[in-house]
Amino acid sequence: MPGLLILLIVLSLNFSKAQNVSFTGEFKQSNLIIGYAADLDYAKLDGIKLLSDNGYFVFGFDRDSPLIHYLTVKLKNGKSIVKKIELAKRRYKIQRINRMKKKFVTPPPKELARIKREGKILKRARSKIGVNASAYYLSGFIRPVKSGRITSVFGSQRILNGVPKNPHNGLDIAAPTGTPVYATADGIVRLTGKNFFYNGNFVLLDHGQGLSSIYLHLSKIDVKGGKYVHKGEKIGEIGTTGRSTGPHLHWGVNWYGKRIDPASLLKLDLKHVRSIGNKLSSTN
Ligand SMILES: [Zn+2]
Repeated sequence: MPGLLILLIVLSLNFSKAQNVSFTGEFKQSNLIIGYAADLDYAKLDGIKLLSDNGYFVFGFDRDSPLIHYLTVKLKNGKSIVKKIELAKRRYKIQRINRMKKKFVTPPPKELARIKREGKILKRARSKIGVNASAYYLSGFIRPVKSGRITSVFGSQRILNGVPKNPHNGLDIAAPTGTPVYATADGIVRLTGKNFFYNGNFVLLDHGQGLSSIYLHLSKIDVKGGKYVHKGEKIGEIGTTGRSTGPHLHWGVNWYGKRIDPASLLKLDLKHVRSIGNKLSSTN
């Protein structure tokens, strides 16, 4: 695959050079891409208009995304550029977990109403993230736990006590209870949850333009809803609340319902994109 990868990078570089559109990110399933065009009017992915902030826009691809997409970049001078995107296909691991409490593999009927209610609360919070055009994510991204061991990567097909379940939609970092958890990027605290059935105690951050990150199973929450947090600011502490078999952080990233691999954020070269763009008024 390295050959294909290099080809994709060269293609995107040629594209950006020729058309004054720059990108950071790898065109691959479950990855996040940040784009910039100085003279941007709007960008569309597969015909759907993206939010933008001073020429910056973000988009991502789901775990099992189709491989062909079309990005349209409309400039203020009326010029329209259409870019065909061919994603690299990813392979995912199979992960067996046999110590999960029975109630978490198949939730008991008495918990179903609660699970539904909690799902609605999360959905409502996510819908607000989808209309916020500010590109807070331009702060760049860090790993939310400094130490710790990655115990489960993104995308693994999970088999809980022998029962096939949904793929793992985040990155798990195991560390002792009380270990600080930091904001991966600038953003607004869109929701904090106490003792949810699956998530336990958690924080949901809004990084703008549909991009969010979530931090699950916390023992302690240090922030309140509505607060602006900076990249690296402490938002809570590691715990094992909710569906969890031991102290760890489940770090999830989402773009309009698309499950993004958090590891892809750490590879983005924001300096490169930012150096091309103007200084933004919406971030600090
Ligand atoms: Zn997890």
